Amino acid sequence: MNIASVIVDVPAKQTDKPFDYLIPEQYKEVIVPGVRVNVPFGPRNIQGFVTGLKTESNFKKLKSIAEPLDLTPVLNPELLELGDWLTEHSLCYKISAFQAMLPAALKAKYEKKLILAPKAALNDLPEEVRHLFAGGKEAKWEEAVEQGLIDTLKKVAARGLVEVVYQVKDRVRKKRLRHISPTVDQSVMKSQFDQLAANAKGQRVLIEYFLQHPEPVELRALLSSLSISQASVKGLVKKGILGEQDLEVYRDPYEAREFQRKEALQLTSAQKDAIEPVLSSINEDRHEVFLLYGVTGSGKTEIYLQSIQKVLSKGQEAIVLVPEISLTPQMVKRFKERFGDLVAVMHSGLSAGEKYDEWRKIQRREVKVVVGARSAIFAPFENLGIIIIDEEHETSYKQEENPRYHARDVAIQRGLTHRCPVVLGSATPSLESFARAQKGVYTLLSLPERMNQQPLPKVELVDMREELRQGNRSMFSSLLFEKLQDRLEKGEQTVLFLNKRGHSSFVMCRDCGYVINCPNCDITLTYHRHKEQMKCHYCGFEDIVPAVCPECASEHIRYFGTGTQKVEEELNKLLPEARVIRMDVDTTGRKGSHEKLLNAFQEGAADILLGTQMIAKGLDFPNITLVGVLSADTMLHLPDFRSSEKTFQLLTQVSGRAGRHELPGEVVIQTYTPEHYSIELAGSQDFDRFYQQEMVARKVHKYPPFYYLSLITVSHEELMKAVSITEKITRFIASRLSQEAVILGPVASPIPRINNRYRYQCLIKYKKEPELKSALKAILDHYQQESASSTLQISMDLNPYILM
Ligand code: ADP
Ligand code: ZN
Ligand code: ZN
Repeated sequence: MNIASVIVDVPAKQTDKPFDYLIPEQYKEVIVPGVRVNVPFGPRNIQGFVTGLKTESNFKKLKSIAEPLDLTPVLNPELLELGDWLTEHSLCYKISAFQAMLPAALKAKYEKKLILAPKAALNDLPEEVRHLFAGGKEAKWEEAVEQGLIDTLKKVAARGLVEVVYQVKDRVRKKRLRHISPTVDQSVMKSQFDQLAANAKGQRVLIEYFLQHPEPVELRALLSSLSISQASVKGLVKKGILGEQDLEVYRDPYEAREFQRKEALQLTSAQKDAIEPVLSSINEDRHEVFLLYGVTGSGKTEIYLQSIQKVLSKGQEAIVLVPEISLTPQMVKRFKERFGDLVAVMHSGLSAGEKYDEWRKIQRREVKVVVGARSAIFAPFENLGIIIIDEEHETSYKQEENPRYHARDVAIQRGLTHRCPVVLGSATPSLESFARAQKGVYTLLSLPERMNQQPLPKVELVDMREELRQGNRSMFSSLLFEKLQDRLEKGEQTVLFLNKRGHSSFVMCRDCGYVINCPNCDITLTYHRHKEQMKCHYCGFEDIVPAVCPECASEHIRYFGTGTQKVEEELNKLLPEARVIRMDVDTTGRKGSHEKLLNAFQEGAADILLGTQMIAKGLDFPNITLVGVLSADTMLHLPDFRSSEKTFQLLTQVSGRAGRHELPGEVVIQTYTPEHYSIELAGSQDFDRFYQQEMVARKVHKYPPFYYLSLITVSHEELMKAVSITEKITRFIASRLSQEAVILGPVASPIPRINNRYRYQCLIKYKKEPELKSALKAILDHYQQESASSTLQISMDLNPYILM
């Protein structure tokens, strides 16, 4: 096999296929599928992925691969195949699919080096490559290439002695610490020992130590454990008996913390019934999808933990997906307490370097469980025994850029390949998943009761229109305010939730009603108090708040809407003695601040935790006895067929924050539309009735789970172009699909202009259209040239979660 098929890093239609390259003799060993290479392409060298090897090509004059970029593949055969599947299912380019599966550090500009593996000593390496690591340090990749040693190094790498590492310039630095190890073998050490002066006590201790433990040890740890001075070490280094090298230690984001090991709990009978089918699926190496439906606090996580335990005992691995927002230290702690160092954690709070470290732990088989947000679904495990998706209804599992995949679909695809179960857990399952469970496509497992036998908290709905009629103009109903005061007196804690989505502060003139919009986008600017600024959340435009109305020059221009800042001010006014912690994008911007605020609240540093979506989940503090929702309906009026579902889920989840421990909880939900079924049924926490009712609405309006959706969005700097192209596309689609498909378009997007580009869309609702994908591909191909040369952009979403 002297020819490699390579997918090159040029995301375009013409290059979305493998190109053949000759494999130079000296790289025969290294170049295998899944390895990245540099190849000549046109006038320059570019990166690519080797996807296959062969002996013959249809092309006569093949160029040679310039150099390999890895010693071991970064994508295993399963992930290479998964890349094909992703391409097919999300209509993305192969190169985008491959790159989506790797940590960002491998995509960015890198500096490449060979390093000794942490456990290896220079002496372990074959003679011919030792000189590369002169002085026991790392080696230069380029030197190894020049001297034709790459193939030899590949064999050394296969024995786990050296590695290639990538360092994103400046940003990602591996954490390296000075290590000491012997540079001579035992007999030499012994003879040196005998020649030591009697007063060289430290040096004696050191040699005795290294005779027993020849592997490298971190300098400071060595000094403190042997109680010797650095001078002793220096002395032996000078004599050439010991060597120094800077070795990598992982940046463990949880390193400072100690996790106490916790054993599995005795399962309740409800939990036993629920876990049984999952365990048989694991035992029988059988793929099956389970929907674990249980209220918060019903013991789902314990089921995850014990299923994983089973998987580990079979020598297999596990992936646990958790929404970014609930990937809290509390959550991580439960996994670390059970499985210790076998757990890797991946979420966006980590730096690129930290993510890369966690990824490499998986690749090196040092961990068996990964707990992470969406992209952790691509963890390069080779022997998966279970995939768990907690809070499966969360929309953040859908990636909103290419490749537009849903982690649930990827999980099921990998579950099929590995013949292992996929467990979807939720207290408020998505309509799609619950419908599949009803039809028997998924197996439904239920946990109807809370572990602590506590009833669900009492929920009261308050009609804010009524409050207004009675002259209450404050943002707090009299009921909520009373309860707030009561909690303050008792020293119990309250969570106040502001549903910010679709309800941020804006600036308006009270005289003429003029609202300040973004000059580039058709959307109001959001007011930010602390800098007296207005900001556009779509294009980043910023401006200071004008002193007079730009329209009528009135001075009565102010900001409206209930942002968290405004609620905080109001609280300070009405309840000056209350200590408030506010959590929103402004107060949690810095790394770790989220955790700090939560810890402060847990330790009782505040009476009220005020926040947006980000406090809806994962909070489990015993002293919270009141939850207030300030405005339940702000999300209901968004142009999104899932708005009722989202409202129901959110209210149910927020309510679940109260009374999780001994103290009973209460919930007050303020609303302007108490009669809306999603609010009424969230009030009675009745998922089953909500499901029935929402299914009727979906059926009538032809939405999922009865119909599939595809959304085409066309944007262009010129309005007319955007309209006419969308029109052509709509007509073309209509000609290719059956009568049953519903094609809506062209219509302006709910946000008709972003960053000075006009946006039009075509929405397709369908049940079964075998021609659809090829039609969509044909459209992309047709406009490919025009997109490259003008400002035309066409995006296709085969399962849209954002219809704007
Ligand atoms: P969920 O994931 O559904 O919110 P958890 O698994 O977190 O539920 O369980 C809620 C609480 O009950 C946790 O504090 C957990 O430690 C406890 N718990 C779960 N299962 C058991 C059990 N079998 N015996 C005792 N306590 C349990
Ligand atoms: Zn005005
Ligand atoms: Zn804007």
